[in-house]
Amino acid sequence: MLQELVESLKIYREYVEGKKFLVTGGAGFIGSWVCDAIISLGGSVICVDNLSTGNHSNIKHLLDSPNFTFINGNVEDLNPDDFKGVDYVLHLASMADPHEYQKYPISTMLSNSMGTLKTLQIAELNSATYLLASTSEVYGDPLEHPQNEEHWGNVNPIGPRACYDESKRFAEALTMSFHREKNLDIRIARIFNTYGPRLMDGRVVPKFIKQLLNNEPLTIYGNGTQTRSFCYITDLVEGLFHLLFRGKPGVYNLGNPDERSILEVVDELKRITGMNPEITFHPLPQDDPTKRRPDITKAREELGFEPKVDFSEGLRRTFEWFRNEVMK
Ligand code: UDP
Repeated sequence: MLQELVESLKIYREYVEGKKFLVTGGAGFIGSWVCDAIISLGGSVICVDNLSTGNHSNIKHLLDSPNFTFINGNVEDLNPDDFKGVDYVLHLASMADPHEYQKYPISTMLSNSMGTLKTLQIAELNSATYLLASTSEVYGDPLEHPQNEEHWGNVNPIGPRACYDESKRFAEALTMSFHREKNLDIRIARIFNTYGPRLMDGRVVPKFIKQLLNNEPLTIYGNGTQTRSFCYITDLVEGLFHLLFRGKPGVYNLGNPDERSILEVVDELKRITGMNPEITFHPLPQDDPTKRRPDITKAREELGFEPKVDFSEGLRRTFEWFRNEVMK
């Protein structure tokens, strides 16, 4: 899978080779795939991660590389003066699983506020290009469907998801401010639901796969008619590289517009695995968005972004990875 990704990214080798990337959250799900791609294309990486939701196993194969440095720490505690000669700053560090960020709302807000400030300062000191990993959560429970970049969002500022939604909105505003006031070269990726190998938390796809493999009932929240649009990891990482090297300062939705209800996710998992799990229904968490689907016209037209891995293929690969690597 990594080989396939690197093959499609080799058009960017000349931009990556010999360049120094700071990747925060580099031991996380998306971050570790990004680190893999940079190293494979001949770049060097300083990976900062506090391993709160990131996982050492995601980067252990990179630790021996002379081009890879790992710093175990909080992004909000970084000293910008310690990062000289960085060409690109990719700020991906943040909890993103609703269960996790609701358990640690203050740390979540700090990585997205102070952490964003520190990483922007590092980019400014080095005249580096800066990429912020934002989220479809800035749209909250959206009033427009699908969501394009013009939608301002419908967010409860004091609800249980606010620690994530509002701190990401702040991070976007701060990033735009560094662009406007200091002319920093910035990109903002609004990342929609992404899944694939290395995502092991309480998000719906890995959670259902773990439940299947443990012969436990699948837990549907609400009546399961709420929708999400799921993007396979390699497509998303490709999108991030397109954005970095082909994008203009501003915000871009990245995701796969293939929208599914949670009931459809269950059906697809049953179909590809041939399993017939018990289903249990549970209360819908407060402020759980009823629908979410990216309008990716801007990324398609300006970046040539096109997700390639369809949902059943992506689920099959993810299920196999769990069976062979996690549950063995
Ligand atoms: N969900 C569910 N059962 C679970 C976990 C999640 O039905 O065990 C639903 C959840 O209510 C939401 C969707 O799956 O509507 C996606 O949830 P997830 O936690 O993956 O991320 P979100 O998109 O809400 O940030």
